[in-house]
Amino acid sequence: MKACLLHAPAPVERNPLVFTDAPDPRPGRGEVLVRVRMCGVCRTDLHVVEGELPPRKSPVIPGHQIVGVVEKLGEGAERFRPGARVGIAWLHRTDQTCEYCRAGKENLCDDPSFTGYTVDGGFAEYAVAPEDFVYPIPEAFSDEQAAPLLCAGIIGFRSLRLSGIGRGGRLAFYGFGAAAHVAIQVAHHWGAEVYACTRGVKHQQLALQLGAAWAGEASAEPPEKLDAAIIFAPAGELVPPALRALKKGGVLVLGGIHMSTIPALDYNWVYQERVIRSVANNTRQDGEEFLRVAAEIPVRTQVTLFPLREANRALNELKGDRINGAAVVDCTR
Ligand SMILES: [Zn+2]
Ligand SMILES: [Zn+2]
Repeated sequence: MKACLLHAPAPVERNPLVFTDAPDPRPGRGEVLVRVRMCGVCRTDLHVVEGELPPRKSPVIPGHQIVGVVEKLGEGAERFRPGARVGIAWLHRTDQTCEYCRAGKENLCDDPSFTGYTVDGGFAEYAVAPEDFVYPIPEAFSDEQAAPLLCAGIIGFRSLRLSGIGRGGRLAFYGFGAAAHVAIQVAHHWGAEVYACTRGVKHQQLALQLGAAWAGEASAEPPEKLDAAIIFAPAGELVPPALRALKKGGVLVLGGIHMSTIPALDYNWVYQERVIRSVANNTRQDGEEFLRVAAEIPVRTQVTLFPLREANRALNELKGDRINGAAVVDCTR
């Protein structure tokens, strides 16, 4: 098959992904082989490719928002039929035995595998995954519409839930990329008001188009005090302004897997029972519930397509803040 391989992390400006022939993966016991149609590009892919996440497999095929079709079943796999349209997300597998898995918190598993990081992902014509960790894709979505739902969407959804936001609540997003452009639609569905703090006029315009009550620069102060804020940008320097924007008892959720150093915090910014918490991965239940809600709304994603051989260009555009909405790699061309 054709695939984009990362041999060693490097700045994306050096185009580190190599478009080449790679052996077709084979589905193991309980796994499915998926013919990839679309694979969304996530900021985590940037962190993998540039080495902010330490390498765990080399070479590795990045990409963890896979939409494709089941091509072949591994031994004992019976959940899907060949031809079924499915999604493969970041959480590739968990051990099901550690204390976190047993407590229903498999997102915190002690021994997880991650798609496109510890195992090969979807910047390729084929990928394999355990059938139990694969999602059926609702018919409401085309392949390219569905791809960004699988990480940006699911993680945004988990972030929203952890923020505790509900009807009549006021919520800010710091950074308005793929995750925020989906999460705003869910937040509105829940009756919350959204404020967008993001660099770049284009991202601010997208937020306003999607119904944000206000949009301004990343460190600008929103006009109202907030019940919650979610930082999607990997920028620790946004933590102080986000905390200062919160009401008493407000919740700040850090939605990324990697963030630059958080500056020293004045205790007054967290006093009055303000809460800071991170989001790590997701459970399969998050994914299933999000896809159901997303189909109900229905969520509409704004995507920019890149052919598989140009995955490096997609990463460069993402790093340069030039993607409005989500970048998606088309693995059929
Ligand atoms: Zn576990
Ligand atoms: Zn991701």
